[in-house]
Amino acid sequence: MSVLIYIELDNGSIKKTSLETIAYGAKVAEQTGGAATVIAIGKAEEGELQKAGQYGAAKVLHASDEKLSHENSLAYADVLAQATQQEGSKVIILSKSGLGDAIAARLAAKLKAGIVSGVTSLPEIGVTFKVTRSIFTGKAFAVTEISSDIKILVVKKNVIEIDESALPTLQATIEVFNPTLDDADFKAEVVEVEKASSELSLTEAQIIVSGGRGMKGPEHWQPLLDLAKALGAATGCSKPVSDLDWRPHHEHIGQTGIKVAPNLYIACGISGAIQHLAGVNGSKCIVVINKDPEAPFFKAADYGIVGDVFEILPKLTEAAKSL
Ligand code: FAD
Repeated sequence: MSVLIYIELDNGSIKKTSLETIAYGAKVAEQTGGAATVIAIGKAEEGELQKAGQYGAAKVLHASDEKLSHENSLAYADVLAQATQQEGSKVIILSKSGLGDAIAARLAAKLKAGIVSGVTSLPEIGVTFKVTRSIFTGKAFAVTEISSDIKILVVKKNVIEIDESALPTLQATIEVFNPTLDDADFKAEVVEVEKASSELSLTEAQIIVSGGRGMKGPEHWQPLLDLAKALGAATGCSKPVSDLDWRPHHEHIGQTGIKVAPNLYIACGISGAIQHLAGVNGSKCIVVINKDPEAPFFKAADYGIVGDVFEILPKLTEAAKSL
């Protein structure tokens, strides 16, 4: 079965989550005895796109028309539909993100394809595809069967392990892809793109240090920022913290904010309300620092430190610096 994998680009680089998606798609292709083809939309150097080969893709279709340089789910869904037709793809795989979901929904409508979003495992492949997906903001899992001819899977982060130190030196071949663009997809004009102030994107970060109301106020954030710097981590926060303007809104993590899935999530002075947990339960390891031993976050933690953040954070920073 031919598998088409959509990858997201960030300033010409393949996003980390998309590298995982390629590896996932390559495994599905392997399971079905088909080829894994990547579709990249936007500007990127050939050398960067060839990296897809290391993760298991044989070929990359590159659509780099200037009109496609700004994220546009309508146009991108059209591009993917045309790539699907050209490649005869039966499975289309995207990363779980705002853009991934927006494209996937439109693509499913165009192709009359079955779609599952929030996939957390490789599919069980028989006459149909059986996939597990997370539901109720990660509190439970559902097994869903897709029986349509074309199947679309929107895959969550951290679904498969990749050993970055043992990647093969394979390079994917790059093919220029020139889809027909429909003016109707470009009715909204992008006037300006404002970059988030944080250097590291929360959805891409391997480590996140996040603060809650227990940090007491914006003027007390420095110990948290110091730890983040020492660990090369992105910074996040709970909803009240961004509501109070202690931290920018793009750092708000949770059910109504960004959903993150880093390797390490360090929660500082966050109580662990279900709405916050809904945004972090994809993390591989959660460390909670809270002075209240009864704080609910400890139940979701892999490691817990009962203590005052203002005493603990400098110690952790010192330890991180000495690594
Ligand atoms: P608090 O609940 O006030 O907790 C502060 C914690 O800091 C306490 O556990 C306290 O023991 C600890 N603490 C205090 N001082 C110290 C210290 N010196 N050292 C160590 N620990 C200390 N919240 C989100 O975060 N994200 C969401 O997306 C979100 N969406 C929501 C959607 C809805 C519809 C609703 C109703 C709520 C939502 N909330 C969300 C809010 C959520 O319910 C909680 O109110 C919020 O997460 C609490 O934030 P907090 O943990 O920072 O603050």
